[in-house]
Amino acid sequence: MTRPVIISHEMDATWRYASGVAMERFANNLLERRIEAMQCGECKRRYLPPRPFCGNCRVPLTDWAPVASEGVLEAWTVVYLPIVDNRTGITRDGPYAMGLIRLDGADTTLNHYVAETDPACLKVGQRVKAVWREELRGAIDDILHFEVLE
Ligand SMILES: [Zn+2]
Repeated sequence: MTRPVIISHEMDATWRYASGVAMERFANNLLERRIEAMQCGECKRRYLPPRPFCGNCRVPLTDWAPVASEGVLEAWTVVYLPIVDNRTGITRDGPYAMGLIRLDGADTTLNHYVAETDPACLKVGQRVKAVWREELRGAIDDILHFEVLE
């Protein structure tokens, strides 16, 4: 039996890509601290983050609907390992909490940071609210994180 050859290699990659029509409008709305979901014309399901097709009806989405900047924590986890933010290159040390947040008016969840990191203080169903960056850039991190309201 031969041992596998392991080659360590670090890559530094920079890339740019077109956001697409849905994410372009989503990002431009963030510049005005406004959040919109895409809504299916048939089943009325509201998708956030916005997407170009309804997963239920398999039809293109063209309608937009405003949603609140507050909602419900549907799931969460606390992470203890640092990560490098791929948008900024800045390391986020642990612990930090990630949540799946269903904003009021949306039918799907948004994955984002939650300010609370004590697992004893996080509960499914808690109300949370977006905390906005002071200077907006038209990106998802215009919302710094969500804070627990209860
Ligand atoms: Zn649909």
